Amino acid sequence: MACSPRTLLDAQGRHIQYLRLSLTDRCNFRCSYCSVSNYEDGDRILSRPEIRRVVAAFAGLGVRRVRLTGGEPTLRREVVEIAADVRATPGIEEVALTTNGHSLRQLAVPLRDAGVLALNVSIDTLDAATLARISGRGARLHEVLDGIDAAAAAGFGSLKLNTVVMGGVNDGELGALVRHAWSRGATPRFIELMPFGDGVPVPTAVVKRKLTEQGVPLLPDPKRGWGPAHYMRGAGGHVGFIGAITENFCETCNRARITADGGFQACLGGSERLDLRDLLRAGASDEHLADAVQAALGRKGPRHHMDEAGARLVTLPMMGIGG
Ligand code: SAM
Ligand code: SF4
Repeated sequence: MACSPRTLLDAQGRHIQYLRLSLTDRCNFRCSYCSVSNYEDGDRILSRPEIRRVVAAFAGLGVRRVRLTGGEPTLRREVVEIAADVRATPGIEEVALTTNGHSLRQLAVPLRDAGVLALNVSIDTLDAATLARISGRGARLHEVLDGIDAAAAAGFGSLKLNTVVMGGVNDGELGALVRHAWSRGATPRFIELMPFGDGVPVPTAVVKRKLTEQGVPLLPDPKRGWGPAHYMRGAGGHVGFIGAITENFCETCNRARITADGGFQACLGGSERLDLRDLLRAGASDEHLADAVQAALGRKGPRHHMDEAGARLVTLPMMGIGG
């Protein structure tokens, strides 16, 4: 591992090694649980050279893994080139990407060739009408399923299929989603709904019970990844769970986020942001950037408060911060 002269520690002493970088606020889906913004990209978002500079600065501070997200990152015209830039940054060991899957039929191979190692595809249902209900008319199931098949054929180091579980909407097809993922060599993961939009959250413990009822009995497993998911093991592979609300994972948080317009955000559930775009455009030196980031992390609180009453009023839109 490359040695970094500085180490990024937050106010709680947590070591930040993982950066989530939003490439655009735009999206062609309109998921009911995700706040939609209609911002155009233009000059307000970080340009490709600005992204290169920011990623290099974070790599110098010890960040080792970058996840490209959005909005929908594949809507950014330069997504493949940006992925290659990030991969080529000294110190960055892994590039990951999260997508709604609609354009993977065209982009899976170019993204893999650009150095994306880990791919997460969001799929909440295997039913076309339910998908339209959750994600709007722009979401076409056959495109997402074809995209997942293309990703499976391209052969990423890791392929995960993420499902946000919503009571009365998709909690009857959890077993089918697991079987579909396993049949494609992918790992299914179930995410608790966070309070950014509509929908009835289903606690992880209930999701596990429903999986057993729907033909997927699971056993505990020690596997952990870079993120907050924990895993269980079943007949066809692993299943991941992200209990964002009922299993607070803030204690082991190792990540920070940058919005498409260059806002550095230390916590998904917080509202403080440092404007890296303004700093970059004002000609800040690498040292100045690093100091500003370190100071922002120094103010990061011990945990998010999304599980508390009124949380919806204070959290930022998911679309702007990339999940
Ligand atoms: N458009 C891409 C996608 O959907 O995969 C990337 C961005 S999206 C904001 C990143 C992840 O956040 C997706 O897996 C999505 O399901 C998840 N997400 C969005 N809103 C959420 C919410 N309210 N609760 C839990 N997960 C959410
Ligand atoms: Fe778009 Fe992803 Fe938000 Fe759905 S979750 S609206 S696909 S950004």
